[in-house]
Amino acid sequence: MHDADEHRAGAASWQRQLSTAITDPLELCRRLGLDPTWLPGAEAGHALFAVRVPEAYLARIRPGDASDPLLRQVLPVAAESESTPGFVDDPLAERDHTPKPGLIHKYAGRVLLIASPACAINCRYCFRRHFPYDDNAPSMREWEATLDYLRGDDSIREVILSGGDPLASSDRRLAALVQRLDAIPHLKRLRIHTRLPVVIPARVDDALLGWLGETRLQRVMVLHINHAGEIDDAVLAACARLRDTGITLLNQSVLLRGVNDDVATLEALSERLFEAGVLPYYLHVLDPVRGASHFDVGDAEARELVEALRTRAPGFLVPRLVREIPGEPNKTPL
Ligand code: SF4
Repeated sequence: MHDADEHRAGAASWQRQLSTAITDPLELCRRLGLDPTWLPGAEAGHALFAVRVPEAYLARIRPGDASDPLLRQVLPVAAESESTPGFVDDPLAERDHTPKPGLIHKYAGRVLLIASPACAINCRYCFRRHFPYDDNAPSMREWEATLDYLRGDDSIREVILSGGDPLASSDRRLAALVQRLDAIPHLKRLRIHTRLPVVIPARVDDALLGWLGETRLQRVMVLHINHAGEIDDAVLAACARLRDTGITLLNQSVLLRGVNDDVATLEALSERLFEAGVLPYYLHVLDPVRGASHFDVGDAEARELVEALRTRAPGFLVPRLVREIPGEPNKTPL
């Protein structure tokens, strides 16, 4: 189908949107009318962690505004090349907790599966920006070792699909995996951590809702939205479809300098999330990953922001402020 025909037929399929994402820093700067002085930094950052921005997300960024809070999440900058003490490749020491390729087991009762090494968008602050996905991208056959691990430990009640972005994987592959999880009697819940319904809302299609609607497991989807401007009408519609399928929707954000580090922005995010039927669950302080220190907001300021939010919003719209500390049995409230 030609682009014009596709446009007339409605939004392009999510697979096509995934494959046509912008992956060139020069194109990103050109498309957004950014001053050329941003380009050297964008290229330097891109060499460390590639640019990836789908069109549906690009459309929500204000052209010509380098301080746009959505742009800051995706534009590589020169500061990513600086080394900052304490900011490391594997800030959560996940490589110490992978009993099988693609399986992370660090908390009691739940395990995390790296269901896809790919993401729809590359977020500059991502704590897995250096994760060795090549060693942790099992084939369907290799999942068997992981499934055996799950079958053999009846203390595990919840499986978390993560990535990358698990929904970057095909519905056929995901449905096959979830069918096998369904057959493990002690599993109760399926949790999916994803940014795809936000960055490419067309991902929430009949095929996805089909297998999500069929599993006997209780389903929780944890979205990742950092700013109210990310929630456009298409995202609202995608969230409504997910809720209609009986899925509990939660959100986790990362507190990011220059993106959401003021109380009015956090309040607007909580309000907009609730309009979308999503509860603002976690606000994470930044994990100290190499290349992202320019996003850091200190703990004292983070606490002040959440206290200020508490005076402006009902309790259910105030996310829990947490830090993940390697070796701790749970996330640490701040
Ligand atoms: S794993 Fe999540 S935060 Fe990291 S780049 Fe992918 S979508 Fe962004």
